[in-house]
Formats: sequence, structure tokens, C-alpha cells
Amino acid sequence: MMSYDNENIFSKILKGEIPCDKVYEDENVLCFKDINPIAKIHVLIIPKDKYISFNDFVANASSEKISYFFKTVEKIAKKLNVVDSGYRIITNHGMDANQEVPHFHLHLLGKENLGGIKYQ
Ligand code: AMP
Repeated sequence: MMSYDNENIFSKILKGEIPCDKVYEDENVLCFKDINPIAKIHVLIIPKDKYISFNDFVANASSEKISYFFKTVEKIAKKLNVVDSGYRIITNHGMDANQEVPHFHLHLLGKENLGGIKYQ
């Protein structure tokens, strides 16, 4: 099984070695703008704990941490003012999904109609 790579780019952001355009932060969760946005709002939401992917997170994190994470996603959606207009959440796990960064993250997209956008 793959082990967590401490040198991945989001780990470097968490360690403060690389800057990010921060949208929200608390002791467990960080949200920042995607460097290469594909919608008017395109942020990444990550737990601060070391999980490689969505699958790793839901399989191995505590129920409390999982619940806290998803409650925080909703808080961020509210802060970004997309609850009424709508938003899309995407997460890539592993090879077939072409996951690029091996630290679990959700993409949250919104503030425009996403119907025509294909995520790749
Ligand atoms: P994924 O394919 O789901 O692993 O997506 C990785 C995402 O991270 C892509 O949308 C990239 O644009 C984004 N990304 C890569 N490096 C950075 C960075 N330094 N700051 C913000 N977003 C980044």
C-alpha cells in the first residue's frame, strides 16, 4: 500500500513552505483557491491530517474527524455564498481518476452554471 508522501505540494502548503490563497482555516481543515481554476469559484478543501485520498480518509480517519470535515465543507460553501446558487464537489482517488496531489482534497466549484464543464 502507498504511504503518505510528506513532500507533496499540499503538505508543503500545510507546513508553510509554499504559499496559498487561503479562504478558510481552522485546527483541522484548510481551504484555499485552486491555482488553476476551472470555474469562477474553485477551491480545494483539505483535512490537516495526513491522508492520501478520499478513500484513505473515509477508511482510516475517526468518525468525528470525517463528520467534522464534511460539516466544515458546508460552512465553507456558506462562506462562499454558493448554497443557494449551487455548487459541485469533486474528489479524485487514485490512478484512474488521475489524482495529481496525494493529499486528500475536495474540489468545490461554483458561482456559474457548471453544466458544460467536464472535470479532468
Ligand atoms: P487532483 O487532480 O484532484 O489531484 O487536483 C490537484 C489540483 O491541485 C489541481 O486542480 C491543481 O490545479 C491544484 N494545485 C496544484 N498545485 C497547487 C498549488 N500550489 N496551489 C493551489 N492549487 C494547486
